[in-house]
Amino acid sequence: MVDVLLILDGATDVTPSSLELADTANLDRLARKGEHRALDLLPPSVPVGSETAIAALLGWTPDGPVDRARVEAAARGIEPKPGERVWRVDIARTHRLLVLGPPPMPTIEAGEPIRVWPDGVVPPRLLDSSTVVIGALGAATGLGALMGARIVVPPGATGGPDSDLAAKRRAALDAIADGAARVVVHVGGPDEASHRHDRAAKIAAIEAADRELIGPLTEAVGEAGGRLRVCPDHGCDPATGEHVPGPVPCVTWRARAPVPA
Ligand SMILES: [Zn+2]
Repeated sequence: MVDVLLILDGATDVTPSSLELADTANLDRLARKGEHRALDLLPPSVPVGSETAIAALLGWTPDGPVDRARVEAAARGIEPKPGERVWRVDIARTHRLLVLGPPPMPTIEAGEPIRVWPDGVVPPRLLDSSTVVIGALGAATGLGALMGARIVVPPGATGGPDSDLAAKRRAALDAIADGAARVVVHVGGPDEASHRHDRAAKIAAIEAADRELIGPLTEAVGEAGGRLRVCPDHGCDPATGEHVPGPVPCVTWRARAPVPA
């Protein structure tokens, strides 16, 4: 029995949503066999982002901002020493840096707009190595690492629409075969495409996830027995390039336990 969660980052948006417009035969089949529910992952006071919403999907609902820089650092195995801090700095939305050292943050001369992510809480260690989180170096794997899960970053996982979903599929099927209790697969492409205002790329990323992951994972969970959930963490509107608050559509399908041989 395995519990599999596929996170389609930023996949939902405004009606008709990219999720509805995408051609997703496997997700549609899953929705027909399973149940379809709108999930309210975050209290209204909490900023809508992957570092907050994925934490909620992993089982811990934050009551304020989450320290995104700590999350990103943890994915890379970096932990600030006492007296140090880590900052995430985005330069013109295309360059993302992690800056580590004692406060205050050093001045960065970029000649372009800079965004320093706010600090926040660090998620508690609620998980153990029976949970496997698969994704690129980013929010999902960083949260997994901080919360105590085992993380797998397959080669070719970029967090963008060009990510190698077949490599994520192989990692997920391996984790299921190895007897992991819980397998979480993160797909960042829909969110990244939304931030780039590219609805066509977003729909293509959702369709690729349907083909490369949802179909094969349905089969694997069918054989192992257990549960498969497919949920966005939050919405992201390709028209504005901004995250969308509110409930996310989540599909859950339960497969009967296999008959012992
Ligand atoms: Zn985003």
